Amino acid sequence: MKTKVYSVDRWNPESDIISEAGKAIRDGALVAFPTETVYGLGANGLDDKAVRKIFAAKGRPVDNPLILHFASPEDVEQVAYVNERAKLLMDIFWPGPLTLVLPVKSIVPPSVTAGLGTVAVRMPSHPVAMAFIKAAGVPIAAPSANKSGRPSPTEASSVLADLGDAVDIILDGGATDVGLESTVIDVTDKVVVLLRAGGMPVERIEEVVGRVVLLPGEEKKKRSPGTRYRHYAPLIPLYLWKDDCDWLRPEVAGKRIGYIGMKEPLHPVEEKILFKTPEYYAHGLFSAFRVLEGRNIDIIIAEWPEEAGIGLALRDRLSRAAGLGK
Ligand code: AMP
Ligand code: MG
Repeated sequence: MKTKVYSVDRWNPESDIISEAGKAIRDGALVAFPTETVYGLGANGLDDKAVRKIFAAKGRPVDNPLILHFASPEDVEQVAYVNERAKLLMDIFWPGPLTLVLPVKSIVPPSVTAGLGTVAVRMPSHPVAMAFIKAAGVPIAAPSANKSGRPSPTEASSVLADLGDAVDIILDGGATDVGLESTVIDVTDKVVVLLRAGGMPVERIEEVVGRVVLLPGEEKKKRSPGTRYRHYAPLIPLYLWKDDCDWLRPEVAGKRIGYIGMKEPLHPVEEKILFKTPEYYAHGLFSAFRVLEGRNIDIIIAEWPEEAGIGLALRDRLSRAAGLGK
């Protein structure tokens, strides 16, 4: 079936388009939609067959569980056991780029959770996402709407380029805001554990729940399946500018360089995309990868940012895109 691409007003999503998308979800279709983080590839999160289509379309490993998206915190009770700490976090940070991992109820098909005893839940703040989830009337299972391993899409055109006919409807609400995925934390236990850095800075979560534990690499891979895989990678080799010596690496010598970062590059480059702040860097990182893929360059060099705030998530995406793991 040919993909329908609808341009949607971000602030006043057209109700006929939104109800068509909601009905398509109830009929088992795949709908890509904008959130404040990146574009999601959505299916009815309670329909095992529809959820499996997501994995097939993306080429996503089946042991990498999905996040369920809701239009209100109360609706989460249907799929998960919500403790007091989770309620407090929802109260303060939802709608927003924070995903909570909670004990799962049996209504959720194991294709969503990869058979774990937990489920990841989030309420996005993007008006198109909210209207669409409400219209669907079911939790929306949605990973990022890219082919597995590619940079996440921050624009509808990237969804179409990556997934094309595998998606039934694409809601084009313009460029996303944050540009990186949500922060994922496990709140099943007394200690809150960071499973994936993202759009919500850890410092802000710590103001509410006290210390958040960052897991060492191997432990994280066990508890956060998504971090096992190479991700976010541009088609052109990516190197990081952590130390000025990185510009002198043999892989860099004599190459046409595309540069991404906040500081001016240390040496002359063919193409450069500069950002004013870490937030703009996050907002533009994935689209910069895709833009540079279309340019006549051999390698990309990206600046390694400070760790504070959104910098922790930027570091995670950059190191995994460069194939360095973390
Ligand atoms: P994506 O949908 O590609 O943005 O990735 C979702 C992220 O949430 C991945 O890193 C998953 O491993 C993680 N995730 C989803 N569900 C769970 C869960 N039940 N336990 C731990 N991590 C989860
Ligand atoms: Mg993803």
